[in-house]
Amino acid sequence: MIKIGLEIHCQLTNLESKLLCTCKADYRGFGTNENICPVCMGLPGSLPRLNREAVKNAMMIAMALNCTVPEKIAFFRKNYFYPDLPKNFQITQLNIYGPTSVGGPGYVMLGKKKIGLLRIQLEEDPGRIIYEGTSKNMVTLVDYNRAGTPLVEIVTEPDFESPRQIREFVNILSDLFENLGVADPSLEGAMRADANISIHGGKRVEIKNIGSFHDLEKAAHFEITRQESLHSRDMEIAQETRHWDDQRKITTSSRSKEEALDYRYFLEGDIPWVRVEQDLMDELRSEMPESISSKRGRYVSELGVPDQVADVLSSDKFYSDLFEKSQTGSNAKEIANLITTDLMGLVDTREKRTASKVTATHLRDLADSILAGRISRSSAKDALYEMVKSGKDLDQVVSEMDLGNVSDESEIEKVVLAVVAKEPLAVEQAREDPKALNYLVGKVMKITRGKADPQITMSLVKKAINV
Ligand SMILES: [Zn+2]
Repeated sequence: MIKIGLEIHCQLTNLESKLLCTCKADYRGFGTNENICPVCMGLPGSLPRLNREAVKNAMMIAMALNCTVPEKIAFFRKNYFYPDLPKNFQITQLNIYGPTSVGGPGYVMLGKKKIGLLRIQLEEDPGRIIYEGTSKNMVTLVDYNRAGTPLVEIVTEPDFESPRQIREFVNILSDLFENLGVADPSLEGAMRADANISIHGGKRVEIKNIGSFHDLEKAAHFEITRQESLHSRDMEIAQETRHWDDQRKITTSSRSKEEALDYRYFLEGDIPWVRVEQDLMDELRSEMPESISSKRGRYVSELGVPDQVADVLSSDKFYSDLFEKSQTGSNAKEIANLITTDLMGLVDTREKRTASKVTATHLRDLADSILAGRISRSSAKDALYEMVKSGKDLDQVVSEMDLGNVSDESEIEKVVLAVVAKEPLAVEQAREDPKALNYLVGKVMKITRGKADPQITMSLVKKAINV
């Protein structure tokens, strides 16, 4: 039996400023130690000021994860000495005087499996340590740009039974963060995790330093295999802390024996307790975007989108926003199809998404043209490719690439007559069996590369062979 518990840290990457000062929350792109101030450096005499938006974001995450939000929120100092921590303490949360972390117990459903959440806390990220040089001549450098970035920690119960469940869970979390508009977990360094893993009721091994959602599943898989291998040979599994080596994709024993640290937590006296008024809760609830499951339900029941398509569409904010902006009811199904079968293949990376020039208007025009029989589905795919690349509007693309359906009867009739003359046997059959008409229509479509209007073609074929 496998038991896994997770501690997931995720930066609130969409915030303007750090947790306790006005430095930028988005420290990426700054020169070394350029995004710092006396507050996030903990200089004597500086005083922290709590970022209200960070608290609101963390509360929204807590609510979306079915957690209780306490009446009062408090912050604590967690004392330890490490070069990346300029104040020698981290401002974080603790539930020592009752529940004062931003989120109390909650849960996430993976299908029918319930994953319990112990708590959600808001804290500041430390700086970053950079090692340079060879092992004989190692230099340790510290960049404090990240120090003070708002971080949300989600602590789960040891409810996971396989790496696959972890993957499902982090996919749900990722989609949820993105849907709430609070974080982009795919940004480098935005998400880090620790995992506690034990098998067959044995000792617990803690894995630290896992730097992406992708690696989290891999690390769990590696560690389970390692423990199973020891167990099958009757070897002891030591209770220890292991580090995830993201280069070699393995866990390694921490060389130094880690001792249980006494963090000497005490209340952060420079940040007043936050009283959570009912008004604020109501405000947040009304500001919260529609949940993914509610969107999914609406797409199916109100817009007639098939289950599986609605599933894919609703879980991705980029595509669901595009869908909502472009659909006008009657074309919803067609647009959902265009997005999930064609567009997702064309813009399958973040870079391609950013570079894409396709808009809601493009999709709406395209779907309406398909429904009106002005363009075939295969031509629509070519047109979409061009729209993504150049951003040109539908009319321009259709005329430049000659993609429009041919609805000029005399033009189609020429082709119909040629086909009828060439296929006497099929004509014979079609006169007896109306189903065989499709063969002749298909021939016309092939010659016109799918551009002949199907309805006009059918009626012209019928006329040509007198049925
Ligand atoms: Zn600062």
